[in-house]
Amino acid sequence: MRFDILTIFPDMFSAYLRESILGKAVKKGLVDIGIINIRNFAEDIHNTTDDRPYGGGDGMVMKPEPIFRALESVEKVGDRNLIILLSPQGTKFKQADAWELSGFHQIILVCGRYEGVDERIVSHYIDREISVGDYILTGGELGAMIIIDTVSRLIPGVLGGARSNLEDSFEDGLLEYPQYTRPRIFRGKEVPPVLLSGDHEKIRLWRKKESFKRTLKKRPDLLQKGILSLEDKMILSSLQEETDKD
Ligand code: SAM
Repeated sequence: MRFDILTIFPDMFSAYLRESILGKAVKKGLVDIGIINIRNFAEDIHNTTDDRPYGGGDGMVMKPEPIFRALESVEKVGDRNLIILLSPQGTKFKQADAWELSGFHQIILVCGRYEGVDERIVSHYIDREISVGDYILTGGELGAMIIIDTVSRLIPGVLGGARSNLEDSFEDGLLEYPQYTRPRIFRGKEVPPVLLSGDHEKIRLWRKKESFKRTLKKRPDLLQKGILSLEDKMILSSLQEETDKD
C-alpha cells in the first residue's frame, strides 16, 4: 500500500517512519511512503506557501497554487486512491475507518498548517476530511502519522503474524481484556490464577468477561452499538448479578 504525504515539514516524519513495526513494514515493501515538500511547488523565490486571509483576521492561510501543483505531481498507484485532508472539521477517525482505508491502493494525505488551507483545495481535490479528535493541533502531520500507523497495522504481514490485530480494543465493539506478564507475583500482587491454568476455554471466557467488565466501566457507549451473541448476553447477565450482589 502506498501513502503520499504533502507537508511543509517533511523532516517530522523521518524518525517515526523508520522505527518499529512501521519501519519494518517499509523495509519489507509492504508499505511504501512518499513525502512531498509543498514548498518545492511554491512559485516565488521565497518558496511562499501561505498568505493573509481575504476578509481580514488573524493568522495565515495555505495558498492553493503550491498544494494544487504538489497534488498534480503525485503519481497514481493502483485504481483505488483517496485524497484526505487532515482537518479538525472532518469526520472523527475510528478503527472502522482504518479498516476501510486499508482497502485502498494509495492514500494521499494533505497536512494543513496555520489557519488551514484555501477552501478551493478542499472543493477541487479533497475526497475526505478526517479529524483525529475534537481538539486543535498546530498542523496535520501528527494526524497523518496516526492514519498511516493505524492503517498499516491492518495490512497483511505488517504485524508479522506474531499477534492478531483482531483481538485489539474496538475490533469486536469491546475494549481488550487486562494483560499480564512475568513475574507471577509483583509487590504482593498476583496474576489471576486462571491465566496460569493452561485451560484455553476457561481463559477465553475469563478474558471475554473482563472485556465486558472494563467496557461497561470505561466505554459503555461502545456496547450500545454492538450485536450481542448468546454467550455475550450470558456474560452480561452474570456481571449484572455480581453488581446486584455488591
Ligand atoms: N483554523 C482551523 C479551524 O478552526 O478549523 C484550524 C487550523 S489548525 C491550527 C492547522 C491544521 O492542523 C489544520 O489545517 C489541520 O490540517 C491540522 N489539524 C488541527 N487539528 C486537527 C485535528 N483535530 N484533526 C486533524 N487535523 C488537524
